[in-house]
Amino acid sequence: MKTIKDFDLNDKKVIIRVDFNVPIKDGIIKDDTRIIESLKTIKYAINNNAKVILMSHLGRIKEEADKEKNTLLPVSIRLSELLKKTVKFVNKTRGEELEKAIESLKPSDVLLMENTRFEDLDGKKESGNDSELGKYWASLGDIYINDAFGTAHRAHASNVGIASNLESGIGFLIEKELNNLLPAVNNPEHPFTVILGGAKVSDKIGVIENLVNKADYILIGGGMAFTFLKASGVEIGSSLLDEDSIDFCKKMLKENKDKLILPIDVVTDLKECFITDITNEEKGLDIGPKTVKLFKQYLDVSKTVIWNGPVGMFEDEKYSGGTKGICEILRNIKAIKIAGGGDTASAIKQFGYDKIFTHISTGGGASLELLEGKVLPGIEVIK
Ligand code: ADP
Ligand code: MG
Repeated sequence: MKTIKDFDLNDKKVIIRVDFNVPIKDGIIKDDTRIIESLKTIKYAINNNAKVILMSHLGRIKEEADKEKNTLLPVSIRLSELLKKTVKFVNKTRGEELEKAIESLKPSDVLLMENTRFEDLDGKKESGNDSELGKYWASLGDIYINDAFGTAHRAHASNVGIASNLESGIGFLIEKELNNLLPAVNNPEHPFTVILGGAKVSDKIGVIENLVNKADYILIGGGMAFTFLKASGVEIGSSLLDEDSIDFCKKMLKENKDKLILPIDVVTDLKECFITDITNEEKGLDIGPKTVKLFKQYLDVSKTVIWNGPVGMFEDEKYSGGTKGICEILRNIKAIKIAGGGDTASAIKQFGYDKIFTHISTGGGASLELLEGKVLPGIEVIK
């Protein structure tokens, strides 16, 4: 697969699809991580004398009123500060003004087009990958570089659409994600242990099905552990239960008895106890310290670890002990350590453990689909 490095960018109009889908409140960017993550590719294009045309989506556009709070204007200002360079913002997604602004670009200039999803107002043209729109956007450039990993699992006009009509490659961010995630999933050094948590089993069925045959151990925590516990015959009180997934859990437990490791103790809203001591009114919200110790035995011998899903309701300090405990264990082992999932990544950052990981994926849905063994359309089209 071609990367940005395989192209001669000199004097070329290079469309770069980035992920600038940052949280914005009252016009102020609350977290600019995604802008920072995209700088490497943008700077490379600038330094190689490209005429840089940036495209991104931001939020969802369902009605006219959504436009005002989802304009990319604040992003252009922040990007300009980070690059220490003028970023020309065009508040259009098509038409003469945009085309003229692109034609007047000089090598190393940077232009940011308005939110690609403004096109969704008129029949979901962006999100539905309207073929005319993809063709039109492709006509604005000479080369297309996709570096938006966070949307690579979706076929939109701004990724699949453009790439189907123009010479294309991937940027440094997508390259880094693939180089870290793919070998860990497909060719891991063993023992390979997966830590799964999060709220619902149903969100992670695809991941379990794909990884159960590749991993040596799957350690299960979080809300989803309770559906597994229920399936194994334990009473779970008022803990989160995914009724529809009980049969799936039963089947998994039957076929993979020694591979799936469930919690032995919990922190509930009332007390800390063995899982067999949860009463009717009680809700399990974190794994207990004995489970952390149990998980440690598996993690200590592992050579590859993939973690998706916090093992407790970490947003509340009272139920963050399990997730912090896992972080602490991982700090002390020598292994490839990969984390994926939006909440998992923010828990790791919040607790100050981001430096101890080999890789923390920036894409929630996209990384989940890679763990499910799916191909990502935004990347497949470039291959
Ligand atoms: P990710 O975004 O990393 O893929 P998920 O979205 O699947 O993770 O799950 C994260 C959510 O799961 C968090 O909001 C957390 O509070 C919740 N969660 C974890 N453990 C429990 C639990 N025991 N009961 C209810 N919710 C839980
Ligand atoms: Mg999440």
